[in-house]
Amino acid sequence: MIFLDAAATTPVRREVLEAMWPYLSGDFGNPSSHHSLGDAAAAALAGAREATAKALGCRPGEVIFTAGGTEADNLAVKGIALARRAADPRLDRVAISAVEHPAVEESARYLERVHGFAVDVVPVDRYGQVSEEALAAVLRPETALVSVMYANNEVGTVQPVARLAALARGLGIPFHTDAVQAAGWLPLDVRGLGVDALSLSGHKLGAPKGCGALYVRGRTRLEPLIHGGGQERGRRSGTENVAGAVAMATALGLAGPSQREASARVAALRDDFIAEVLTGVPGAFLTGHPADRLPSVASFCFPGTSGESVLLELERQGVICSSGSACAAGSDEPSPVLLALGIDAEVAQTAVRFSFDASVTAAELREAAAAVRTAVGSIRTLGPTSPQ
Ligand code: PLP
Repeated sequence: MIFLDAAATTPVRREVLEAMWPYLSGDFGNPSSHHSLGDAAAAALAGAREATAKALGCRPGEVIFTAGGTEADNLAVKGIALARRAADPRLDRVAISAVEHPAVEESARYLERVHGFAVDVVPVDRYGQVSEEALAAVLRPETALVSVMYANNEVGTVQPVARLAALARGLGIPFHTDAVQAAGWLPLDVRGLGVDALSLSGHKLGAPKGCGALYVRGRTRLEPLIHGGGQERGRRSGTENVAGAVAMATALGLAGPSQREASARVAALRDDFIAEVLTGVPGAFLTGHPADRLPSVASFCFPGTSGESVLLELERQGVICSSGSACAAGSDEPSPVLLALGIDAEVAQTAVRFSFDASVTAAELREAAAAVRTAVGSIRTLGPTSPQ
């Protein structure tokens, strides 16, 4: 099998598993316990927080461990917007881009539905990018928060986060970015990016599912979403997932030093793959930005097919990929992201995403490109095969 669905999830790295193991076995203590086992767990948690802060260029106290990217996004969007409105009732709007992951989009819709906020959706261009002008056009004195993702999970487009964050912060509006897909590929230095909050997920980086982190800048007000024993300085209650925090920190630490080299190498392989697919499959087109895109994502539409049937045919040939976003489980609606890029609904149903981790090879991608050519060709000739 050639696994080209790393944007959905990645296997746990051996080094990560080994780093976690002590906190799942011998040193299994609760970090709040006042005995030696508790102390060992508390020390591991503090170490993980320091290492995560180092990877983000922030202070350890600015890192909140969560149960994944979805929770980090929820805490950022709801937590910051609700806290700001509690301090000033006029702050009753949030601005998000048109291509956010549902974890951000649905958090904003919850604020609208339950708390009476207005949601301003910032349009994107045909490559999925938000311009400063488009963001400036929706910002108002009542805007409590802006959330624009760092890199898109479906088409791989990278946003000009530093410029957008500078614009929002210049107006005194906190800026959150979902960096779940960017981690491992793009710089995560939160001061350089100028963001007030940034979300991460462990399982896209070689840590297990169900662990993540949220950076929140020093004095940013944050309303907790999970109440209880006051862990994570009262910002996220619940006995800490010590092994998960260690996993998150270890995965970030492993990705950091090789990030530039891995990004350059994989981007070159991606470009060859894109060129091979586009020359081999008449009518195919790339979705997302041609240059400002994640090294790890190549996404296409194959008019005259259905994305699902291409996926099935490719799996038969030993290539695993995704027909859109695995995060919107079970949905056969056309992707809202592709619609936001102006792609026709019928054509959006023909989307297929290939996403790689740093171990991908030129030979695998050559084989995958040949499989795509055969799969699309046979579907166009014979019609879609039915799932078995
Ligand atoms: N944000 C983006 C951009 C994602 O791609 C994903 C996962 O697919 C998430 C958030 C959610 O992260 P998690 O699966 O850890 O909840």
